[in-house]
Amino acid sequence: MLPPRAEVVVDLDAIRHNTALLAARAAESGAATMVVVKADGYGHGALPVARAALDAGATWLGVVSVAEAMSLREAGVRAPLLCWLDVPGTDLRPAVESDVDIGVSTVEGLRAAGPGAAVHLKIDTGLTRNGCPPDLWPELVAEAASSGVQVRAIWSHLACADEPGHPSIDAQAKRFDDAYDIALAAGLRPMRHLANSAATLSRSDLCFDLVRVGIAVYGLNPLPHKEDLVPAMTFRSSVVLTKRLPAGESVSYGQTWTSTVDTTVALVPVGYADGVPRTLSGRMDVLLGGRRRPVVGRVCMDQIVVDCGDDPVRVGDEVVLFGTGADGGPTATEWADTIGTIDYEIVTGMYRPRVTRRYVGEP
Ligand SMILES: *Cc1c(COP(=O)(O)O)cnc(C)c1O
Repeated sequence: MLPPRAEVVVDLDAIRHNTALLAARAAESGAATMVVVKADGYGHGALPVARAALDAGATWLGVVSVAEAMSLREAGVRAPLLCWLDVPGTDLRPAVESDVDIGVSTVEGLRAAGPGAAVHLKIDTGLTRNGCPPDLWPELVAEAASSGVQVRAIWSHLACADEPGHPSIDAQAKRFDDAYDIALAAGLRPMRHLANSAATLSRSDLCFDLVRVGIAVYGLNPLPHKEDLVPAMTFRSSVVLTKRLPAGESVSYGQTWTSTVDTTVALVPVGYADGVPRTLSGRMDVLLGGRRRPVVGRVCMDQIVVDCGDDPVRVGDEVVLFGTGADGGPTATEWADTIGTIDYEIVTGMYRPRVTRRYVGEP
């Protein structure tokens, strides 16, 4: 078998482990677990992740668009499924007819879902994206109570759950309670869900009936303290060329790096077209031959160059760009920290036509 050019390996056993851990936490508060597989499962593949997660204790799935929901249904996934944000005018009937619950923030959205739909009414408690502002909430609730829809849940989303102790968390929880009271007063008996991964792991009091976990399922920890999560994605490639470089030679566009001693460099056929941010130029290592080694010079569209010193690297040697970190290698979180973003963006950005995806672990 040829060594990989650019490959994402997704460990479904890690997805299972992380889901089981989160579902056990949620269950301590009596909550069920929705695994969020939007954006093609944060770049890991929505369908295999959904199946592994349902096998490991999740009972709900969450996506953003109707198209994402329908592709799960068309693949035979029958689990309860919520989709929460599409453009006004999207035909919701196929989703409703396929038992997909619809997230609703407005009276127009309620009408679009139509009688017979199962809806989750979203209250904006302070994130100020979608969700119904508190002043419009009584009207939305009244309309929902009289319109023939089934109000399965009320829900909201936290702005700062990844900063435990942030005052906005309690402020949002208070508004959520108020919204629930209004729904009860209107005769509704909905479930409640508020917690994302960070809140599920740090605020058992906010787990209510259901938690919506994403990033932690993929093994990335949104909290400052340690959790026993296993990153599911490994990004790997292989050496395609090595050359001996005399001291004083420069590498890659702009000649930003020059060798100070004779050294061996290895060419790896991945670049920013494959998900290596160009802003990591001069600031990243790879794991090659069991050791961390620096990438030198600029990250190109299709290639990076690794300084291997006098070590005997060979064409075909495996190169891990990021992985679990257990072997001392780089992680998606390390990439994110280096360039000033979050690991969500790194892994979600790995869904690329030139990068193949392979699954390991029990399917
Ligand atoms: C993406 C998303 C989640 C999952 O958040 P994580 O931080 O990945 O756990 C939960 N709820 C909503 C509304 C989302 O958009």
